[in-house]
Amino acid sequence: MAHLPTGLLIDGHWGPAGDRATFEVTDPATAEPIFDVSDATPADAVRALDAAHAAAPAWRAVPPRERSELLRAVFERTMSRTNDIAALITAEAGKPLAQARAEVAYGAEFLRWFAEQAVRVDGLVRTAPSGGNKQYVSRRPVGPSLLITPWNFPIAMATRKIAPALAAGCTVVIKPAELTPMTTLLIAEIIRSEAEARGLPTGIVNVVPTTQAGPVTGPLFDDPRLRKVSFTGSTRVGQILLAQAAKNVLRSSMELGGNAPFVVFEDADLDAAVQGALVAKLRNSGQSCVAANRFLVHDAVARPFAEKFAAAVGEMVTAPGAQPGAQVGPLINEGAVEKVTDLVDDAVAHGAQVLTGGSRLNGRGHFFEPTVLTGVSSDARVVTEEIFGPVAPIVAFGSDDEAYELANGTPFGLAAYAYTTSLRRAQRAMEEIEAGMIGINRGLVSDASAPFGGVKASGLGREGGEVGMEEFQETVYVAL
Ligand code: ADP
Repeated sequence: MAHLPTGLLIDGHWGPAGDRATFEVTDPATAEPIFDVSDATPADAVRALDAAHAAAPAWRAVPPRERSELLRAVFERTMSRTNDIAALITAEAGKPLAQARAEVAYGAEFLRWFAEQAVRVDGLVRTAPSGGNKQYVSRRPVGPSLLITPWNFPIAMATRKIAPALAAGCTVVIKPAELTPMTTLLIAEIIRSEAEARGLPTGIVNVVPTTQAGPVTGPLFDDPRLRKVSFTGSTRVGQILLAQAAKNVLRSSMELGGNAPFVVFEDADLDAAVQGALVAKLRNSGQSCVAANRFLVHDAVARPFAEKFAAAVGEMVTAPGAQPGAQVGPLINEGAVEKVTDLVDDAVAHGAQVLTGGSRLNGRGHFFEPTVLTGVSSDARVVTEEIFGPVAPIVAFGSDDEAYELANGTPFGLAAYAYTTSLRRAQRAMEEIEAGMIGINRGLVSDASAPFGGVKASGLGREGGEVGMEEFQETVYVAL
């Protein structure tokens, strides 16, 4: 791979942290350090905001068509480098190369989609109900934005925020997850060099990787120049950030935790449900906020579903992501393996049976066997907590009403999945399930062109779709 950036990107220049400190990024498949990355200080973050603030007037003045063309060019360059970006994602996040390539395509799609949306800055003119005047409604960029991303989808989490921000005319400071900063740094360099080549401002994307997330981003919340925070991560950290955002009444988008139910009704096509379950559960080893967390299966089909699903899960190849044929990669770190082990042990202690898997894999790296548990009680921790690992607990239900009660009996409401061959049941599932995204006879919902986000404790706002750009715009109304 060509030279990879490992510094801070501030005002279009790469450089070290103010105190020259660095931190190690490790490979989850071996637990070995693979990169040394600059460790930003609070003062570095303020310099990054200085740059985002300084670049803001010039960037918002760039015609939408040119903003669009920059994003489109970054999309093309990203796609043309699919293999090296995928290898980098696999190196720092662990996922199998095939999934890393799919993530590059998915992540790049936000660049293409928002390139297409950048030229659609909607407004409205209408006659006031009184007939006495016109109402003129337009949109403006909200202003310098802080983007904080998690480690599980290193490119997609970055582009899902950077692309709509730039499309809307906002400049950004991005703080990538400390476990996987490398992919964000590479994408930022692609944007910087493309902007430079076009004579556009280069301070539009500033990157501050750090091991001190709270202390480094904290001062930005006290600074009135920051106008927006967009966060993806845990509900716990989202709540902290919302409290900080209250100070300057920041626009806030929050993609937080999930606890997705995967409901299999008695009339479901079981083979299709098993295929969907494999994707919904095992993509990225279950380390996704939309991962199926609980399999709610009707009594009449619980046994055949569990057997077919366990057989398919048992055939999955768990191996380092760079190894040909790997289907399930390592978990991100030792803490993740310990948490998943705890949840499985707790379920088994309370009467669950292990149909396949059940333990960590000994040897190098952070591997846990893909696991299916049956006879799990609906109040087991593995059902009520977000697992973030390759473990599928199956809970049986007796009636549709009970299925909905279980599905909605959580503070979360991000994704949900339902399998049925009945149109009537599908319609009811669409109405009843409290979630921002529902897959009907599908195990995958994510799509750059559709609104992604949750209800209840799963968050505020949506990313992707038309609304993704509105999250970075203010609405201004003029009575004319
Ligand atoms: P996860 O469990 O997915 O790691 P977190 O919510 O802990 O989720 O982390 C998501 C992102 O939020 C990461 O980039 C992390 O560094 C950052 N983060 C964690 N704590 C804070 C904080 N107090 N302030 C700002 N960012 C934080």
